[in-house]
Amino acid sequence: MTVIADQIQRIQASLPKGVQLVAVSKTKPVSDILQAYEAGQRIFGENKVQELTGKYEALPKDIAWHMIGHLQSNKVKYIAPFVSLIHGVDSFNLLQEINKQASKCNRVQDVLLQFYIAQEETKFGFTLEEATAMLQSDPFKSLQSVRIIGVMGMASFTSDKEQIRREFNQLKSIFDQLRIQFFGNTDSFKEISMGMSGDYEIAIEAGSTLVRIGSSIFGGR
Ligand SMILES: *Cc1c(COP(=O)(O)O)cnc(C)c1O
Repeated sequence: MTVIADQIQRIQASLPKGVQLVAVSKTKPVSDILQAYEAGQRIFGENKVQELTGKYEALPKDIAWHMIGHLQSNKVKYIAPFVSLIHGVDSFNLLQEINKQASKCNRVQDVLLQFYIAQEETKFGFTLEEATAMLQSDPFKSLQSVRIIGVMGMASFTSDKEQIRREFNQLKSIFDQLRIQFFGNTDSFKEISMGMSGDYEIAIEAGSTLVRIGSSIFGGR
């Protein structure tokens, strides 16, 4: 068995029920992805549109491709025909463009709202107030071709595990509030995308349902 296949099976076996693995394959070749695929992995995450479309074309069609990076509105059209989940929706403008392109493809696109939980200036995402304002607005309610199925966030890049835990707990609490206030406790609003190679165990304890793991599977970049 290859190292990649071994890591996929080790991590998969360690995940509790209800937590799915997004194998983050950015910068890695198709041959690496195939090793993970042959070990049973079917969800892969990429953060660049061009790389994502190239890999989609080259690889088996039963892969669920997740866009995990910052997405520019003018590039949505390239992934709209096939992308399974868009993690990083951080503005109404972007959501509107996803709605438009999904509609052209006769699809309803699943997305996650990205929240700003880190103590860092560089991270993208809504605050709870911004998201609440959007979800209450009439322009939002008119969108027919997007479905918000949860939230996503990234913790600070720090070795302080308690800080990371607080940030993940904050995302879980945002999820709980939105679910009650806007999604009528429905089962379609169910995903909390948090946790990467260095912090996914903490994320799972805080309620993650989707862990995005790259370097622990494929090695450093
Ligand atoms: C690269 C990336 C990951 C995976 O990071 P690792 O530390 O390699 O596991 C997860 N989420 C996002 C948004 C990323 O860009």
